[in-house]
Amino acid sequence: MRLRQSLLLMISSMVVTLLLVACGGEQTVPASSLRTVVATSVPPTATSAPPAATPVPPIETPRPTATPEPSATTTATPFEDYATYRPLMDEVVFLGPLYTTSATEVPVAALEHAGTMLSIMLRHRPDVVETLQAAGALTAVFGRSQSVCDLPYFSDLKGTRTCQEPGGLGGVPGRPATACSEKNVLKQPDDPFGRGTRTDGENVCAHELAHTIMNVGLTDEERLAIRKRYEAALQEGLWMGDFALENADEFFAEMSQTYFCANPEVSAFLHTHGINCAEELQAYDPSTFSLIDGIYREFADLR
Ligand SMILES: [Zn+2]
Repeated sequence: MRLRQSLLLMISSMVVTLLLVACGGEQTVPASSLRTVVATSVPPTATSAPPAATPVPPIETPRPTATPEPSATTTATPFEDYATYRPLMDEVVFLGPLYTTSATEVPVAALEHAGTMLSIMLRHRPDVVETLQAAGALTAVFGRSQSVCDLPYFSDLKGTRTCQEPGGLGGVPGRPATACSEKNVLKQPDDPFGRGTRTDGENVCAHELAHTIMNVGLTDEERLAIRKRYEAALQEGLWMGDFALENADEFFAEMSQTYFCANPEVSAFLHTHGINCAEELQAYDPSTFSLIDGIYREFADLR
């Protein structure tokens, strides 16, 4: 088993090396070469108006503790096999299963962290990665002085309240872009969600990525199982007062956050139970734990 893993790792690193060489030796693709890649591999810009993305209500609550950084995991996929549904922005990294992109004002570290996060969440679901890539999914990080609607993928929403969402937006079919904020991804001190600085802080990027995973990457059967489990949890009187009960989509996003230690450690506004990490989820709601664990297949700490 170990030998097989080592061989896979070797093959994987060889592919990564080839990929990096092809991109000029950097995981961050310079805008010039990016445009070349995009121009040759991206289908025409989507013309039909995509459905509205799933907004996340702002959550104001103080929160603590240091957060370990996720370890970098690079999933290699040839550029020519994966084209986004729309042209990428000026900065792009391919660290993880999908492109992560932003305007030049965003530190590249934010793109790398967001890419790594998704890579960890999906490390046992190459099938989901394949589906997301086939849909042209991507992750976009908006900068400190930007709003979600400054990302080209959401620019049609300008003037609506959606643009005020401080944490980001999840992707849906037709608009398979996840929006994450630089402040949250990099745990900056003024992140309104207090990630890494407050006990009730949370990783909202993981929440938005979970929306995209559910709506774009999972199978119909898995989506049905999530909806059934949401209805059952309501009937069982679990998670009362928690944002998780908003609807099945938010249930999955919140339970994904909880599974990955990305929710508040303490009872907080819209997070009434202070349940965080897979063990606590299993103890409080074993049926939901089984569902979420069956989807992701291995716990990780993404707080
Ligand atoms: Zn949400």
